[in-house]
Amino acid sequence: MATTSNAFILGVDLDGVVANHTWRFREIMAELRGVDPETMPIERSWDFHEWGFGPDEYSHYHRIAVMEHDMFRTMPVIDGAADALWRLSDAGIWIRIITHRLYVHWGHEKAVADTAAWLDANRIPYRDLCFLGAKPQVEADAYLDDAPHNIEQLRAAGNVVIAFEQPYNRQIVDGPRARSWGEVEEMVIELAAGQLGQLQAQLPGIDAGADRIDQHHR
Ligand SMILES: [Mg+2]
Repeated sequence: MATTSNAFILGVDLDGVVANHTWRFREIMAELRGVDPETMPIERSWDFHEWGFGPDEYSHYHRIAVMEHDMFRTMPVIDGAADALWRLSDAGIWIRIITHRLYVHWGHEKAVADTAAWLDANRIPYRDLCFLGAKPQVEADAYLDDAPHNIEQLRAAGNVVIAFEQPYNRQIVDGPRARSWGEVEEMVIELAAGQLGQLQAQLPGIDAGADRIDQHHR
């Protein structure tokens, strides 16, 4: 937790927080099954049982989605994530992306390459990109995550964790929770200001900056 630098490090999970994993996975599953996506509810549990997966079927289809349908390269961004991250970054917050996409022993090259390409294509600012296995902790001052087990483990180890609202984490009732990226931004600014004493916060809406990479590359 305690960092030697004077920056405030925000550990940001990708799937279900910045990348709309449920949405893209549903599109791919609908294609594979030849059914209407609406037959698989967006309001789903962590184990996707509402989508009718049998034992081990989730990992089977997830692999196909990643390897054959480029899922990590083609997910939509969750509303407001890019602009909020730019403003936080401009305010001096150190963005450390944390992803658990290497949890199975295949396709690491594609998972890493597609993730990096996706971050660029969607103008997501970051200073570090961490691909983790089981352990969620990477020395951040605060974490933003949607996975119930990560939220619980990180908090149990004494970390500040903002739970990003998803249908599968509503059973966690205590602790900070953000229902939108607007709420994330406010909470992070407050946490960082509390730790660092002051912070050059930008007002939301001013030079949001998600298109700034284009401007720099011109
Ligand atoms: Mg996640």
